[in-house]
Amino acid sequence: MTKSYNILYDYYLMLFSEASKKFMEMESTTKRLELTSILGSLLENAGDDLKELVYLIQGKLAPDYEGIEFGVSGKLIVKSLAAISGMDEEEVNKLFYKNGDLGITASEIREKMEQKPLFREDLTVHYVYTRLMELAKSAGHGSVKGKTDIYADLMVNSYPEDIKYITRIIMGKLRLGVADSTILDSLVHAFSSKDNADMVETAYNFHPDIGLIATLLQKGDIKAISNIGPEPLIPFKVMLAERLRSIDDIREKMNHHVSFEYKYDGLRTELHKKGDKIKIFSRGLEETTENFPDIIENFKKSYSFESIIIDGESVPFNPDTGELFPFQMVSKRRGRKYQITEKSTEIPLVMFIFDILELNGRTLVNLPYEERRKILEENFVDNEHFRLATRLSSDDSEEINKFFEQSIEDGCEGIVAKDTSDESVYRAGARGWLWIKFKRDYQKELADSMDLVIIGAFNGRGRRAGAYGALLMASYNEETHAFESVTKLGTGFSDEVLFSLPKMLSDLVRDHKPAMVESKMVPDIWIYPQIVMEIQGAEITVSPIHTCAFGKIEKDSGLALRFPRLIKIRDDKNAEDATTTNEIIELYKMQKKTK
Ligand code: ATP
Repeated sequence: MTKSYNILYDYYLMLFSEASKKFMEMESTTKRLELTSILGSLLENAGDDLKELVYLIQGKLAPDYEGIEFGVSGKLIVKSLAAISGMDEEEVNKLFYKNGDLGITASEIREKMEQKPLFREDLTVHYVYTRLMELAKSAGHGSVKGKTDIYADLMVNSYPEDIKYITRIIMGKLRLGVADSTILDSLVHAFSSKDNADMVETAYNFHPDIGLIATLLQKGDIKAISNIGPEPLIPFKVMLAERLRSIDDIREKMNHHVSFEYKYDGLRTELHKKGDKIKIFSRGLEETTENFPDIIENFKKSYSFESIIIDGESVPFNPDTGELFPFQMVSKRRGRKYQITEKSTEIPLVMFIFDILELNGRTLVNLPYEERRKILEENFVDNEHFRLATRLSSDDSEEINKFFEQSIEDGCEGIVAKDTSDESVYRAGARGWLWIKFKRDYQKELADSMDLVIIGAFNGRGRRAGAYGALLMASYNEETHAFESVTKLGTGFSDEVLFSLPKMLSDLVRDHKPAMVESKMVPDIWIYPQIVMEIQGAEITVSPIHTCAFGKIEKDSGLALRFPRLIKIRDDKNAEDATTTNEIIELYKMQKKTK
């Protein structure tokens, strides 16, 4: 491996060209195992630059919750490229228009420019990272010049392939096809033993900073990793629920150690406080504090914890009647980082708290659910903006059924059963049987809608000419990190969605099957897995065409969703949050039982 020796620090630094060579290999392979093996060799050779390299592989400089953004528009890159190369802006734009990718545009321009001066040292990963961090941090007066100067420096000193990836990183479009979970697996493989994989995953789910975990793994500091838990002001991956077809099945599954809570239909909300700082994060770990002014203000006024982390669901309500509203009323505005409009501040939110992870410096995640709930009850008095989730502790069928009906009456989607045994800890990021959801829909033959990822598109004809006729949709296989095709979706699109899709997906179009996609069906266009859609189907059947759960139910066959219909785009979910292959297997079994 080519490295550059740094006299000052007395260690070897990885050359950026070494990384970009691997990035190129990762992009061009269509095989999942090859992808992970390239990633593995890159990580193993990173040496002292590992931390910086793993962030760059994610196309970032730090975890998202640190809020470090490049603040560079495509326009600014075009301007800089023109200035550096002496070309007209119009010419650069033409090139960009031709290949639709600023990274490629930059590398083509670099190719035509003078060779890199011989006396210049090659760019190292460390140097690129440091300069990109400076670029991101340059703000205020003169920052445009500061940013373009740094970009010019990187451009002049890099090889064409390097500037391609550097530009994509700046534009937030690196997309190497390796999710955090894949990087974690590779890190464990490279620096530790498989026995530690679960512990590493738990640590990451409580403190999703891949750079931190990478450094500790490389040092072999397993003890430090095992000590990682929830930390106020750092978002954690929320705990998720399994589903079952009937309340009796749930009680049996939980050995009758069970409590039921209303299942609120809102926006998952984690609220953190430390000292005088309060932050709110979404389930996608995005900081959305600014979108919850009423909640924050009320929390400040009503409670005086030194530090706390609570988990719950925020729901809009009618301030005159206290009635809960369907979440769609504010989700577009409140759920994401967008500016708040007047309308969203008019409709107040109430946070229904259902869990607590930390209180005044004490970690609570290893306490059983009942004890965590008791702590909540001791510390919270319901008010306009904070209420504890309504719950019932009972093993009486009639009482539970009534509770379920009442939940629907009160504007909820159903109930969530919580295991009340001593093992019922808070498991960050995990979907398990400690929480089981039950909705009215579950009595239907196909119990639930699915959140599937677009992996391909078929060209439209007739009225749909110029748009897509159908989309190829996939589930996420948590074990292999692959996206497995499960249905071809062509129904349920409004004209607005239909005709905006080509533009929405244009950045994600690929000329070959991305390595983490498993599909026998070949669409007209491959799409990089990123966009999640909620889909209702009529039935799950065994199918030789689709790769979801291939060979799991029947030899040489997978599972397919028949008669799928689009419900909505789930822009609060990342591709890895999609319905998993295992969930589809469970849904298939539930459906068989109902039949
Ligand atoms: P999932 O969150 O399971 O991936 P989803 O986002 O499609 O799926 P649902 O399947 O409808 O949502 O239900 C699970 C969600 O219900 C939880 O993620 C949580 O946001 C919400 N929820 C509402 N009330 C509760 C509660 N009392 N306990 C736990 N979760 C609750």
